[in-house]
Amino acid sequence: MPDGKPAGVRCVQLDDQNLCKLFNDPHRPTLCRQFDYDEAVCGESREEALVILTQWEHATA
Ligand code: SF4
Repeated sequence: MPDGKPAGVRCVQLDDQNLCKLFNDPHRPTLCRQFDYDEAVCGESREEALVILTQWEHATA
């Protein structure tokens, strides 16, 4: 995604199991490498993370 990943758009590097195809690749974006699990962002499931992130996107739009 040469112009960056817009909020709410699925990353093209996610595979069918929602795992990052660049995880051990040096081309993985720095921001992605620096991010670590945070319950305040990720919740306890993918569904919960999507709800939290959507709330943050609306709050900061
Ligand atoms: S970690 Fe980064 S590159 Fe990998 S799937 Fe997520 S947003 Fe895309």
